Amino acid sequence: MNKRGKILVISGPSGSGKTTLRDKLLEYASLKRKFTKSVSFTTRPKRSRERHGRDYFFLKDADFKRRLKAKEILEWTKYLGYYYGTSRGFVSKQLEQGKCIILCLDLKGALRVKRLFPRNSVTIFVLPPSLRTLRQRIEKRCQKTKKEEIARRLRLAKEELNTSRHYDYTIVNKNLERAVRELRRIVLEEMH
Ligand code: 5GP
Repeated sequence: MNKRGKILVISGPSGSGKTTLRDKLLEYASLKRKFTKSVSFTTRPKRSRERHGRDYFFLKDADFKRRLKAKEILEWTKYLGYYYGTSRGFVSKQLEQGKCIILCLDLKGALRVKRLFPRNSVTIFVLPPSLRTLRQRIEKRCQKTKKEEIARRLRLAKEELNTSRHYDYTIVNKNLERAVRELRRIVLEEMH
């Protein structure tokens, strides 16, 4: 695989605000030209505000497994019973064109990308300011979701809080604007 472009991995527990940070980063015109976000495959059910092709490619279990077998998936994870994975074809095409890619992944995915692209990847862990904020964000997002899933996400999020040592950088997402500026600073320093 051609490795001209670079990969930015943003990770963090459910409710840490990592996808909002990614979207805010892409609002900078200068970065928008160079960066492209990867849309993952998942077998998790679509939430009401999500769109197929924009937030995820929502797949049936069998379709995900077929792609996995056909080696169409660069890295993958199973999170709370559902599969999530990154398209190998997309990543390789973007890198060949010299583009930078932003991936929002869990720890397993972040470690895998770091192993595959040790020199041209940067991993960032996003922390919520407090457990209380985390709980509020998860509850808000999962309004229509079962109480049980909220509890599972929260439990897992608490475990994930202790994994920041595996990443190149950690950002505390207390004030969104400040967190975006910090993320931009890291990106400009590391990826230009
Ligand atoms: P959610 O269901 O909240 O959208 O995502 C659950 C978790 O899966 C989040 O930590 C998210 O970053 C992670 N995730 C989403 N897509 C991928 C992927 O393609 N690969 C990996 N490893 N993790 C992913």
